[in-house]
Amino acid sequence: MLKHNLGYPRIGIQRELKKACEAYWSNKIDSNNLFEVGKKIRKENWKMQERANLDLIPCNDFSFYDHVLDMSLLLGVIPESYLSIPMNNIDLYFSMARGFQKNGWDIKAMEMTKWFNTNYHYIVPEFNKNQKFSIYSNKIFDEFEESKRLLNLIKKIKPVLIGPISYLFLGKEKNKYFHRMDLIENLVPVYIQIINKLKNKGVHWIQLDEPILVLDMSDKEKEAFQYAYKKISKSCLGINILLASYFDGISENISLFKDFFVKALHIDLIEDSNQLKKILNFFRESKMLLSLGIIDGRNIWKNNYSNSIKKIEKTIEVIGENRVMIAPNCSLLHVPIDIESEHSIHIDVKNRMSFAKQKIYELNDLENIIKGNKNILSNNFFLLEKTKKSSIIHNQKVKERAIQITDKDIKRENSFSIRQKKQKKKFCLPIFPTTTIGSFPQTKEIRSLRNKFRKKELSKEEYYKKIKFFIVDVIRKQEKIDLDVLVHGEFERTDMVEYFSYKLKGILSTENGWVQSYGSRCVKPPIIYGDVSRNGNITVDWISFAQSKTKKLMKGMVTGPVTILQWSFVRDDQPIYHTAYQIAWAMREEVLSLEKSGIKIIQIDEPAIREGLPLKKKDWKFYFNWSIKAFRLSSSGVKDETQIHTHMCYSEFNDIFEHIADLDADVITMETSRSKMELLQAFSIFSYPNEIGPGVYDIHSPRIPTVEEIFNLIKKASKKLPIKNIWVNPDCGLKTRKWEEVLESLKNMTKAAKMARIKLINKSFS
Ligand code: GLN
Ligand code: ZN
Repeated sequence: MLKHNLGYPRIGIQRELKKACEAYWSNKIDSNNLFEVGKKIRKENWKMQERANLDLIPCNDFSFYDHVLDMSLLLGVIPESYLSIPMNNIDLYFSMARGFQKNGWDIKAMEMTKWFNTNYHYIVPEFNKNQKFSIYSNKIFDEFEESKRLLNLIKKIKPVLIGPISYLFLGKEKNKYFHRMDLIENLVPVYIQIINKLKNKGVHWIQLDEPILVLDMSDKEKEAFQYAYKKISKSCLGINILLASYFDGISENISLFKDFFVKALHIDLIEDSNQLKKILNFFRESKMLLSLGIIDGRNIWKNNYSNSIKKIEKTIEVIGENRVMIAPNCSLLHVPIDIESEHSIHIDVKNRMSFAKQKIYELNDLENIIKGNKNILSNNFFLLEKTKKSSIIHNQKVKERAIQITDKDIKRENSFSIRQKKQKKKFCLPIFPTTTIGSFPQTKEIRSLRNKFRKKELSKEEYYKKIKFFIVDVIRKQEKIDLDVLVHGEFERTDMVEYFSYKLKGILSTENGWVQSYGSRCVKPPIIYGDVSRNGNITVDWISFAQSKTKKLMKGMVTGPVTILQWSFVRDDQPIYHTAYQIAWAMREEVLSLEKSGIKIIQIDEPAIREGLPLKKKDWKFYFNWSIKAFRLSSSGVKDETQIHTHMCYSEFNDIFEHIADLDADVITMETSRSKMELLQAFSIFSYPNEIGPGVYDIHSPRIPTVEEIFNLIKKASKKLPIKNIWVNPDCGLKTRKWEEVLESLKNMTKAAKMARIKLINKSFS
């Protein structure tokens, strides 16, 4: 039985990579210093995995920015505009990731998007119709040579690459006149060249990641897959190819492996443990090795050994021990590095936790159990049993409430049309009312204020006084711009999820639990470890203070249950929807408390609803069932007159619009400006019933939109939607922007709305 790993976190235990990259970008260190940091991280990672006795250790899983971008460089998939800038490879690489604005050049960064259903973002490859591929960068070969010098057994080193089908799938066509899967014939020979070059350097094992296998593959993709692997398996003899699937099961696609043969196939038994039976049936007739992904690389809980051992033993029984491999289900990129860096987590919870390093050692434990060491098994069993009962995890009342949700709890008192009338009467807002999404620029001064308060260098009184000063200031600015519905600016929040997790029982924050989100950006997801409840007001004091400073309507601002869940590590000892409902009840209390204190409009942000969508369509229904229920539970307790807003930022909503309507928020504000309101196309097919604010300008860019262009977007929206339902707002929060940009842009936005009120009423436009 071989123990192996698919990939290890590359940010360094103290986020050395982030610091080095940012220092390099601001010319504080040179490329040699940067490369040294990379080398050191790789060495530590390899040595650690060697000490942990792995049989196969990944190489080329390190990346200075993103492993998909590494692939594009390896294969020479580089848009021409970047090649025209004279510079070395590392600068070319960073320019593709971050854009290049220097010495008269102004080239935008390449597009970035989410890596499957994770919170990691990759740089999207861009293909031409006649895209040529050739070996362009030596990174993978150099890193193999480097690992060869450092590790004792060359046979252990397993270079990792994204497989050709997933690589094409993850990219996009630069223009419409071809399908990127058709590029497979050009691409396969280069993969063969790379693999054989690695073999000649002494590589025994290579891992090709093909997460596309877990999706609903099209016929074209299936054909390309078979074409590629028939060729590769024939032309790359004498090297062991491991094909890795992860993030879901592959039962539907296992028949693709009928006519060719690779050395080993890796499957994800965390996301889909039911697939094992079908896969084993297939493996009875096959000679391949089966790699069992049994350690959760997406979550931070200790492995339940007795569950894993059952799967391993079952597999051994069918195909024999020599054909079994064990590993985490996916790369450990998605979890923090070392639980030992945490010093303030309650022991009952910490004892249940395991980060990347601990997960590698769990493989060792599993092997020892298989070899007969039953002590490890029983220790694991008793530890999990004992901590499972810990009083800090459980709250009986909260548990009961989560399963006793009645129809009344998830329904507003009256239907939208009745609510709308009452709200219009009460608020007396003009048509095309203007608002923003919540946050205003988070300046250095504000960040340092929060930092000082956190480090106790600033007393609570002083801190509150200063934040209140900023709130009043942002209110005056909004009044001057003449926005209709104001916000308090969110200055007290570091992050929209972390802020709430601090204040909710059952959720903890780590000291050093960083995970890469994209490039040098890391996030520290909160950990939902127990029953979640609210410990008193969270936002109410801030919002009521803000409301007391203006005659205009002040919008309350909370993060929705699905987003809190999605951006945290979630407990694995109860169904996910139970956790969602618990958070939803807690947020409902907050919403009701805001209402009670006189707040008439409350926004419940749910930017993560779209990304939580399961990878396979067959699972969507179940997901929408619980996620919509959770949102409605948090929002439905208020009176008809209280207006619930929600906000989402993602451009591809068209396929889920009906479900978004089911949320039954009175108003939804969303991103559309980047796609020039392409989203509105969806309304030709499905008429969205409630009020909606399709974002009229792109906050991700420093560009200030003109009055005219905003007006034109409002006009466009007015042709598709009833005028009485349209709101005017930017497409997301303004916290990353500069004040100068924000003030100008919002002024133009309110001017455009006023113009629309005159010109577009009675639809007297052409
Ligand atoms: N209210 C949040 C803000 O304005 C929403 C952020 C988001 O959509 N991600 O920052
Ligand atoms: Zn947003």
